[in-house]
Amino acid sequence: MTSRTWLGSSLLVLLVWGCNGSVDQPTDSPSELTEAKTAPKKADTVKAPVKTAKVEPESGLTTFETRAYCENQLSRLPNAMKKAEIQRLCSEVELKESCVSKNGKPIFHFNRISKRKKPQRILVKSLIHGDELASGTVAASWMARLQSLSPRNTWRVIPISNPDGWEQKTRQNANGVDLNRNFPSKDWEELALKWWKTKKRKDPRRYPGPSAASESETKCYIAHIEEFDPDFIISIHTPLGLLDFDGPKIPAPKFKPLPWQSLGTYPGSLGRYMWKDKNVPVLTIELRGSNGVNSLESFDHLQDISGTVAIQAGRLLNSSANRN
Ligand SMILES: [Zn+2]
Repeated sequence: MTSRTWLGSSLLVLLVWGCNGSVDQPTDSPSELTEAKTAPKKADTVKAPVKTAKVEPESGLTTFETRAYCENQLSRLPNAMKKAEIQRLCSEVELKESCVSKNGKPIFHFNRISKRKKPQRILVKSLIHGDELASGTVAASWMARLQSLSPRNTWRVIPISNPDGWEQKTRQNANGVDLNRNFPSKDWEELALKWWKTKKRKDPRRYPGPSAASESETKCYIAHIEEFDPDFIISIHTPLGLLDFDGPKIPAPKFKPLPWQSLGTYPGSLGRYMWKDKNVPVLTIELRGSNGVNSLESFDHLQDISGTVAIQAGRLLNSSANRN
């Protein structure tokens, strides 16, 4: 990677960030970084199929408009990459037909396919809460890194999952809905609004919406889940400073800056919808601080740990499925 020296505002997160946390790597699963050394040249890389439609039927957005939006928005993230790197990244992003925000902004995504047999399929999303700025920076850095190597796992990254919230710098979307309470978990009807009224005292930052999956952004994620069919989901947030895992029991990865700690799930949250209802593990990365980071190399390590957790969880789930 040519421009990994991203400088900018400093935050507590990286004051405590060290490389001391050892990666819990299975011996047959080298890290994405290790594979980078033998990555094929750009022209040889395997790319996800890119939709080349001039106009996406439902969104009305052209591929050119989507990629221009990508460049514009990624350049506004804290500690943004250099322009050339952003252009290279955005030249590969895609848009699903239904993935448009309330205000008509594209919810674009990036694919990277593993060449391995039966890789884990990992879906990453960040900035589902629009005011958690650093989460988008980390996702964009992962995308750039994936572009330069041949990964163990197959990845799909949605870096700006809530474009209207991101532009307004609000947690919620343009309708005032907390999208991470709007997923159609089985208990949504019974509990989502009830919990919001009683346990959250109608905190507007936690409003789950008028009905399950009422929001266009939520419909977009569901379309991704149905089509991409992930084995594992990573959701990047701020600012709690921990790794929260909803999935099978695996050895906690050793990662000093973000301790392994379970927060539980909520009606309408992604963890409840995917893990409790659908048996797909969800790793929630809660970065420390919300505005920026002053070095991204450390997050490479976090990506490798996340990939390893996905592999471990996949093996466990497969073996228990075989026993049943
Ligand atoms: Zn959040």
